[in-house]
Amino acid sequence: MTHRHELVGVLDALLQPEKFKDYGPNGLQVEGADTVRKLVSGVTASRALIEAAIAAGADTLLVHHGLFWRGQSGCITGWMKQRLALLLAHNINLLAYHLPLDAHPELGNNAQLGRQLGLVGRSRFGEQDLGWLGEPADGMAFTSAQHLADRVSHVLNRPVALVGQTQGDIKKIAWCSGGAQSYFEAAIAAGTQAFITGELSEPQAHLARECGVAYLACGHHATERYGAPAVAAHVASQLGLAHEFIDIDNPA
Ligand SMILES: [Zn+2]
Repeated sequence: MTHRHELVGVLDALLQPEKFKDYGPNGLQVEGADTVRKLVSGVTASRALIEAAIAAGADTLLVHHGLFWRGQSGCITGWMKQRLALLLAHNINLLAYHLPLDAHPELGNNAQLGRQLGLVGRSRFGEQDLGWLGEPADGMAFTSAQHLADRVSHVLNRPVALVGQTQGDIKKIAWCSGGAQSYFEAAIAAGTQAFITGELSEPQAHLARECGVAYLACGHHATERYGAPAVAAHVASQLGLAHEFIDIDNPA
């Protein structure tokens, strides 16, 4: 058990949100209970996740995708009213960390995705250094882009869209979780043979074919499932809190 202020302080010290230019506020987005006992982590503060957190007896929800983003209307109507009403009625704190939760060197989405896939990060690339460039861990080798795609599909337990082919064994792999289509050119410039991210957009398919770099779209949700529970488990053990990760399936 701890005070909300202490939990937010520990998360801010760990994730250092002040270092990022982000698309929404990081940290406490909705104020709930003063005393924190049970933390539920998840990817997105959807109504389904909020309802599951209530059913799990949580007083605090920690997510990667919070409720508030630049460009929203700011009106509390429709789905926004429903999500907020549930949080407020059940006195649940909503904590959201976006880019800081992608970037943390051990617990973040990219670090944890690399770990799941058996990749070792060697350097960073792209805007705000969010992209990771590395190689297969000891003893692993990928003989083709399809071989790599099959491995990723197996680990993430979902289909992977593969565009483009590579020459020879794949030794250099770049990755950036979520909607990181715009990082593809920086990944190519950094010398990668394959790029793993969540989503694929029209221009990147052509670039993959023309540049001889494989593009693997593996799901925005699926590639961002690992950071929030890793961070939540870390702070929960530090502060003596109960923690549960709740995965709300998302095909996107
Ligand atoms: Zn995302």
